[in-house]
Amino acid sequence: MANGDKPRLSVATCSSTPSVIQRPSRAEAEDAVRTLIRWVGEDPDREGLKDTPARVARGYEDWFSGYANDPEGYLARTFEEVHGYDEMVVLRDIRFESHCEHHLAAIIGRVHVGYLPDRKVVGISKLARVVDAYARRMQVQERMNSQIANCIQHVLEPKGVAVVIEASHQCMTTRGVHKPGVVMVTSTMLGAFREDARTRREFLNMIGNPVSGERS
Ligand SMILES: [Zn+2]
Repeated sequence: MANGDKPRLSVATCSSTPSVIQRPSRAEAEDAVRTLIRWVGEDPDREGLKDTPARVARGYEDWFSGYANDPEGYLARTFEEVHGYDEMVVLRDIRFESHCEHHLAAIIGRVHVGYLPDRKVVGISKLARVVDAYARRMQVQERMNSQIANCIQHVLEPKGVAVVIEASHQCMTTRGVHKPGVVMVTSTMLGAFREDARTRREFLNMIGNPVSGERS
């Protein structure tokens, strides 16, 4: 790279302008892992740990690959005009893995997405890609939930969008208060799903009702 510039990562987000982050090199990232290994009292040069920093760096590339993806692009490229179909479209149990931005611990769960089309529908695999593009970042569940809903609302302009996330947070199950089995449920309801209790109930019934159908 010219003038010894470090590679730059353009962060694409659905609703805000992309920001540019100065990225350290892979060697610097691996050194940081070596530091953490020493910090817990281990020897990074020990046979079993020799390749660990490289593996962790590759793991981070995978876990945080969402920054390189443009969720709006997935939807914008693929929508089709579907004449006359105006019933709810629901994609249930989209499994995801994310990491909380407070502890970098895993968040593992399922996303349920529903929308009421208005002219545009999208291939269902694209909805799963949108979920992954947001999940594979440092996240908080509430923000990921509204990002997915707002992205679909913005690009497909449906009559409404509903997104429910059920997830277990390893920062809570394997450290801190150590409460295994606790599932956090969040939901974002837009348009018809927010305004019409019947529509909301229909969606919640379809996904097995992790959220009470009654909202104030
Ligand atoms: Zn956490």
